[in-house]
Amino acid sequence: MEKKYNVIVIGAGHAGCEAALACARMGLKTLVITLNVDSIARMPCNPAIGGIAKGQMVREIDAMGGEMAWITDHAGLQFKILNSSRGPAVWSPRAQCDKELYSVLMSKSLQDCKNLDILQSEATRLIVKNQKVCAVQILTGEIVETDAAVVTTGTFLKGRIYLGKDYFEGGRFNERHAAHLSKSLIEDCGLTLGRFKTTTTPRINTLTIDYLKMTEQPGDENPRPFSHFTEVEKWRKNLKQLSCWLTYTNPQTHKIVGDHLDLSSIPISGGESKSPRYCPAIEEKIERYPEKTSHHIFVEPEGYNTNEVYLNGLYTGLPFGLQQQMINSIAGLENAKVIRYAYAIEYDYSSPLQITKALAAKNVPNLFLGGQINGTTGYEEAASQGFVAGVNAALCVLGKSPLILGRNESYIGILIDDITTKGMDEPYRMFTSRAEYRLSIRNDNCDLRLMDIGRSLGLISDAAYKKFELYRNAVRDIYEGNAETLPSDDELTPWSLEKAKEEVYIHKKYEGYIGIQEKIANKVKKNEDRKIPDDFDYNKLVSLSAETKARLNEVRPQTVGQASRIHAIKPSDIAILTVYLEKQRKERKAKGRIDA
Ligand SMILES: Cc1cc2nc3c(=O)[nH]c(=O)nc-3n(C[C@H](O)[C@H](O)[C@H](O)COP(=O)(O)OP(=O)(O)OC[C@H]3O[C@@H](n4cnc5c(N)ncnc54)[C@H](O)[C@@H]3O)c2cc1C
Repeated sequence: MEKKYNVIVIGAGHAGCEAALACARMGLKTLVITLNVDSIARMPCNPAIGGIAKGQMVREIDAMGGEMAWITDHAGLQFKILNSSRGPAVWSPRAQCDKELYSVLMSKSLQDCKNLDILQSEATRLIVKNQKVCAVQILTGEIVETDAAVVTTGTFLKGRIYLGKDYFEGGRFNERHAAHLSKSLIEDCGLTLGRFKTTTTPRINTLTIDYLKMTEQPGDENPRPFSHFTEVEKWRKNLKQLSCWLTYTNPQTHKIVGDHLDLSSIPISGGESKSPRYCPAIEEKIERYPEKTSHHIFVEPEGYNTNEVYLNGLYTGLPFGLQQQMINSIAGLENAKVIRYAYAIEYDYSSPLQITKALAAKNVPNLFLGGQINGTTGYEEAASQGFVAGVNAALCVLGKSPLILGRNESYIGILIDDITTKGMDEPYRMFTSRAEYRLSIRNDNCDLRLMDIGRSLGLISDAAYKKFELYRNAVRDIYEGNAETLPSDDELTPWSLEKAKEEVYIHKKYEGYIGIQEKIANKVKKNEDRKIPDDFDYNKLVSLSAETKARLNEVRPQTVGQASRIHAIKPSDIAILTVYLEKQRKERKAKGRIDA
C-alpha cells in the first residue's frame, strides 16, 4: 500500500465513485477506501436511476464529465421519459437498472481509471493538524497521508438495522457498519452529527406473481439514453427492455398495517430519527392519508439474471410475518413468496450547515463531504454531491478556486445551495418544484449549460468536445435560420441534427418566459455576487433580532443571496445587512484597502 496520496475518498457508493473518478481524471493521485469492494455503487433500495428532477441531475453530472449516466445506459433494462405528456421543461429521464450489472460496471470504471487505487478497509480516523486533514487511519492502524479527503459514508456511520422493533448493527443488510469514523468527525473535525432513518421494500420471486391481475408498464418505444456520449441508434439496437407492472394496496392491506403500527420501526409521529417524507413507508401513508383506500405499487424487475422483483411503494418497517400478510393481500401477489424482507436503517449524518457551497467543512477546509452523509437521500443526489466534492478536493489540492454551481444553471447547484443554506430536519431529496429557473435548466440542454465547465476541469476529452462544439454551432445556426452549412449526422455523432432541431424548438417555445426568468436571475445575481467576508461579525448588526443573528451565525452565508434564502430571514434583515456591507466597503475603500 502506498503511503501518500493527493486525495483520499472514504466510501465507494454513488457519491464516492463520482468523487474518486473526478479527482483521478483531473490528474490527482487518488485512493478510494471502502468497506467492501463487492458492493461498490450498490443500489440497496430501488434499482432505478433518474426520475423527476433526479434525471436532470444525472445528465448534468454527465455533461461535466461524470460517470453515472454512462453506466446507467449500459446497465439499464427499461428507459422512460417521465412527464412526457407535460411541457419539455419537466421531462425527466428514468431507467430501471440491472443492479448487479450497475455495480460491476462502476467497479470496472474505478479499476480501469488511471491515478486511482482502491483499498478494501475501514477508515477509522481523520488525522487533522492545524485545521487540515493530513492523513487517514485505517482499521489495521496504518496511516495514509493525504493532501485532502472526501467523506462519502452513506448509511454506514453507526448504522443500525431495524426489523420491526428488533435491531442490530449494520451499514446495510449483510454489511457491517462503520463503528469508528463518527467519533473522529466529531472530535477531530469539530462536526456535529445527527440521526436519520430510511426504509426499503421487500423483494419477491417473479415466478410467484400473477401478472394477469396487474397492468403492464412497458419502457418507451423509442428510448433515449442518459449520457450525451452514448450513440443512440447503436445503443437502441442492443437494448432489451423489460416491463414493470402496476397493482394497488386495498382496504385489507391498510387494515393489516393500521392494526400493527406499534410494531413498526418507523416512528409515525416524531421520534428521534426522521425518515424521508417524500419516500414514506406504507405505515406513514396510511396514517397521513386515512381517506385513501389504495396506493400504487409498482412491481419492478431487479435484473436480467435474477427472479427478484422490487415492490416500489411498499417501504415498510414492519416485522417479517406482517410483511408477508400485507403482500399477500394485494392483487396479483396472493401467492407471492418473499426472497428478502424489507428493513429500516438508522445512521449518523452531518448537518450540511457545517459545509460550504464547495462542500468543504467550514472548520477543516480540505475536508469535503458528499452524499447521504450530508442528510440527503437518493443515488442521484449522492452522485451529484460526490462529483462536486471530488472536483473541489482536486481544485483545493491544485490551489485553484472551487466549483460552485449557481441555482440558475443547474439542479445540482440548487441541491447544494438548499442544503448548505437551509439545512434540514428530514432527509432531503430533489424535486422540480425546488427549481425557480426550471424553464431554463432542462433535461434537454444540460450539455449546452454545463459541458464548458466539464471541459475547463479537464473532464471532457478533446474528441468529445470537438463534436459538442459542432453541435452547439448547429443549434445556433438552426436558431438563426442558417440551415445551408449544417454538418452531417456522421460528423455530429453522438449528437444529431434531430436533437439540435428539438433543442431549438424547445428553446423557442419557452423563449419569452426564459427572457423574464433571466431578468430576475440577473437581479438576483447582484446579491449572489455580493460576498460576505468569512470573518463578518453579525453581532455588530444591532438592528437584527437575536434569532436572526443566531441563524446567520449558524449558516455563515458566503453571499448576500445565500443569506436571503436562509429559513426565516426577512427582506428587512437583508436590507440591514446590505447597507452595513456597503458602509464597510466604503470605509475600506477610503482607507485604500480595496479598489473601487
Ligand atoms: C435500507 C435503505 C433504504 C433506502 N431507501 C431509500 C429510498 O427509499 N429512497 C432513496 O432515494 N434512497 C434510499 N436509500 C438511500 C440510497 O441508498 C442512498 O441515498 C445512496 O446510496 C447514498 O449514496 P452514498 O454514496 O452517499 O452512500 P452509500 O451508497 O451508502 O455508500 C457508502 C459507502 O461508504 C463506504 N463506507 C462507509 N463508511 C466507511 C468507512 N468508515 N471506511 C470505508 N468505507 C466506508 C461503504 O462501504 C459504501 O461503499 C436507502 C438506503 C438503504 C440502505
